[in-house]
Amino acid sequence: MKFLQDLTYNELEKITLDCGMPKYRVGQLFSWITRGVKYGEMSNIPQSMKDALINIGYNDEPIRIIKTLESKLDGTVKFLYALQDGNVIEGVLMKYKYGNTLCVSTQVGCRMNCAFCASGLDGLVRNLTAGEILGQIIAVNAKYGEKTVGNVVLMGSGEPLDNYDNTVKFLTNVSDPKGLNISKRGVSLSTCGLCDKMRRLCDEGFTPTLTISLHAPNDEIRKKIMPIANRYTVNEVVDAARYYFNITKRRVIFEYSLISGVNDTEECAYELARLIKGFPCHVNLIALNSVKERALNGTSKAHVEKFKAWLEGLKVSVTLRRSMGADIDGACGQLRRKFIKGGGVQ
Ligand code: SAH
Repeated sequence: MKFLQDLTYNELEKITLDCGMPKYRVGQLFSWITRGVKYGEMSNIPQSMKDALINIGYNDEPIRIIKTLESKLDGTVKFLYALQDGNVIEGVLMKYKYGNTLCVSTQVGCRMNCAFCASGLDGLVRNLTAGEILGQIIAVNAKYGEKTVGNVVLMGSGEPLDNYDNTVKFLTNVSDPKGLNISKRGVSLSTCGLCDKMRRLCDEGFTPTLTISLHAPNDEIRKKIMPIANRYTVNEVVDAARYYFNITKRRVIFEYSLISGVNDTEECAYELARLIKGFPCHVNLIALNSVKERALNGTSKAHVEKFKAWLEGLKVSVTLRRSMGADIDGACGQLRRKFIKGGGVQ
């Protein structure tokens, strides 16, 4: 299915001119689309133009919010969205002092099958279109007010670089000054480390903040928890990260989820520091969120602090991420699964 939100400004302009409409209509239409307004409410757009878009297959609503859960602990809001084909995805709005960040999904399910993640439990269902990715932000802004979403992280379900074309189209649209206009610095892309695509991304001029889910300091441990480690070694991942930094001059972030007894020893901290030394990067630590279906546990709070201190002692730039929305199934893919198992879209 095709959606109005899939279109870049230039693509919309071409369609508008092709149907014989004047150029000033492009801006009017793009502004409605960016605000999630449906054909019926686009008051200044002639019906003939709407009919032209409908006739070539453009749907006006890629996605709608069907459930909202608000954390009593920290105000985090979790959403379930329904897609037009009945699939369901989830997202999280996190409230920080400096603004709101929306965590966005790029695929229904995921084929990376990391041992600790709920998103990959049923494999990949399908890629999201650029409009279905953008539509998550538009739907949240439509519900809570324009500009509610200040920052975006591609950290929901799916592997963004495994859905490359739709993801880069999304990156173009989300920062378009005529559209949502979210600054490039406000967009983070998280990947399990598809090295060829990381290089391609910056070669093609895309410069989101790159977050790499490393989670292990060597291949042996990484292979136990991330199947992608059989394709790329940790050295290849770090080389691609250095390349990304050299091209974009943007500091790369390594995600490291601490799993009790798996990747949280002092030796691991030393190996990690050795692996990533020598270029501007940062490590984000988080204790693994336990997922019911996965037999792995998060490192205890006290031990997480120890691991952080070891890294600091080795001069690694490191922060501890707060685990947000713990009372509303904050971890990837958990809410969607619970929902589907409980009977699906009502
Ligand atoms: N596929 C991308 C983005 C989606 S996952 C990636 O791999 O980066 C977003 C982040 O959440 C990743 O760092 C992922 O490894 C992490 N994650 C997944 N399940 C988790 C869990 N149960 N506890 C803590 N982090 C988890």
